[in-house]
Amino acid sequence: MKPIRTQQRYQCDFCKKRGIKSAMNKHELHCVKNPNRVCGGCDYFKSIFPLQYRIRTKERREEIISEFKKMVSEIIFKEEPVCSGYVGISSPNESEISEKIKARWEELKEEIACPSCKLSVVALSGIAKYVHYDYKEDFLALNAELLEKEQRDEYYSQCCGDL
Ligand SMILES: [Zn+2]
Ligand SMILES: [Zn+2]
Repeated sequence: MKPIRTQQRYQCDFCKKRGIKSAMNKHELHCVKNPNRVCGGCDYFKSIFPLQYRIRTKERREEIISEFKKMVSEIIFKEEPVCSGYVGISSPNESEISEKIKARWEELKEEIACPSCKLSVVALSGIAKYVHYDYKEDFLALNAELLEKEQRDEYYSQCCGDL
């Protein structure tokens, strides 16, 4: 019996994901919890996103994230004495603000367009509790749209190549 060399494993600086160095280097760059991430999704889907809807700048992403963070921070937590003597915590304006967050999310998700960017905004702004976002469903729907467009483009370039 001899000892075998095992590879050192690393954990992402931003989330709990672990793996070997090369995989984690790649992951960290694109990690949805990395505020300075490089988005692979934006690039992958670029041919189907309406130009005006793409978040092309880091500044715009940060603006959206801080807008949501601000709304979340406006939720007031109030301590209340309860009969057992313990202190209960209620947030009297939570449902009102959560409605505001939901409504704003519906508007902004159109602008964000890219599924990975949407996931990143949800993860970094703390609104996961208030909005429902299904990454997989969104990704698959857009991916179907993308593949259809690529097939269409290929078909056109074949039959109209000489025009
Ligand atoms: Zn990560
Ligand atoms: Zn993106």
